[in-house]
Amino acid sequence: MEVLCPVCGRKETIDKTHKDFQKLAKAQTKTHICESCNLKIKAQAASANDLLR
Ligand SMILES: [Zn+2]
Repeated sequence: MEVLCPVCGRKETIDKTHKDFQKLAKAQTKTHICESCNLKIKAQAASANDLLR
């Protein structure tokens, strides 16, 4: 199944072994944040938390 990363616009192919496959198969929108964007977002969230502290 082909999904699109809404952050970087890169297409990714995921199969049944992917942890989000079931979720995406049910969802109407075939968008999935790719691994590298996921890490970026997590890093941004972590630094945002640091600013709040
Ligand atoms: Zn991405």
